[in-house]
Amino acid sequence: QAKARGRNGYAFYAPSMDGEGLERLRLETLLRRALEKNEIWLAYQPQVEIDSGRLIGVEALVRWNSPELGQVGPDRFIPLAEDIGFINQLGEWVLEEACRQLTRWDQAGLYVPKIAVNLSARQLDRGGLAGTVERVLRETRLPAHRLQLEVTESVIMNTGDAMQYINDLHAIGVELAIDDFGTGYSSLAYLKQLPVQTLKIDRSFIKDISTDANDEAIAIAIIQLGKSMNLAVIAEGVETGEQAAFLLRHGCRRAQGYLYARPLPPAQLQAQWGHQHHARLEFAGAE
Ligand code: C2E
Ligand code: MG
Ligand code: MG
Ligand code: MG
Repeated sequence: QAKARGRNGYAFYAPSMDGEGLERLRLETLLRRALEKNEIWLAYQPQVEIDSGRLIGVEALVRWNSPELGQVGPDRFIPLAEDIGFINQLGEWVLEEACRQLTRWDQAGLYVPKIAVNLSARQLDRGGLAGTVERVLRETRLPAHRLQLEVTESVIMNTGDAMQYINDLHAIGVELAIDDFGTGYSSLAYLKQLPVQTLKIDRSFIKDISTDANDEAIAIAIIQLGKSMNLAVIAEGVETGEQAAFLLRHGCRRAQGYLYARPLPPAQLQAQWGHQHHARLEFAGAE
């Protein structure tokens, strides 16, 4: 209807004033306050060794429970946080909270070997990230090797000086994983020079792994690449026993996905994974 008010067929509103723009502005205002109002929290998704069902780590996945909007997914608010310059504050909170949670579990007697935290491009390209990570590790007294930072290929390729920043992080002793591997455009020559320890096979390749010949070929190629470059490989989005069996058969020993667990609130993770032996038996029984 805004258009109907325009003269000569031109609409004289700025794009930011239309319905979508208003919605976005509202979202933006709410998001900026969400942290201090404690509406942001972290869910943790187990990463397991396929054959034993053993817990090898968890990935922290940010969540926003907004009283006004309901549950908002990270795919909706992370890009917004990046656009409005809020991602550094949010990302720093995520890093602190994830590390704190790992030490809380330690104290509660649940040993989660490793915590993986996602980074966005804006966090990496500021350059100060290594200092922040060092501070957080010091404050939480977490050994650096128990923190794994996940970056996508596009984060790496779109960040000038990415190599330098990643080397700085490596120097501290944190681990690095390439997330959504296979969906981006990173050159293998470049990859070879990065101090990365883990490749995460994107879940789009896992979805139809036993029926789509191309996905199957890509997954196998990534597993082989990992092997020849001496990198750990973990599959994302594993939902069926069939997919897990396929991966194991082709030499991928680690997985993350709904088959094992959804992203869980910390108390629930502790309740379900506090007894590793039980989890293992349940898994064997489910197959
Ligand atoms: P990601 O890092 O690739 O995370 C994996 C996503 O796959 C998560 O979605 C997870 O809930 C979902 N997933 C896990 N297992 C399965 C499965 O078996 N089947 C299916 N269909 N999905 C599965 P989520 O939590 O919605 O996060 C989406 C993306 O948002 C993440 O993708 C990551 O890129 C980003 N993100 C999440 N938390 C953070 C954060 O703290 N910081 C930044 N910068 N990005 C984050
Ligand atoms: Mg991730
Ligand atoms: Mg991923
Ligand atoms: Mg993703």
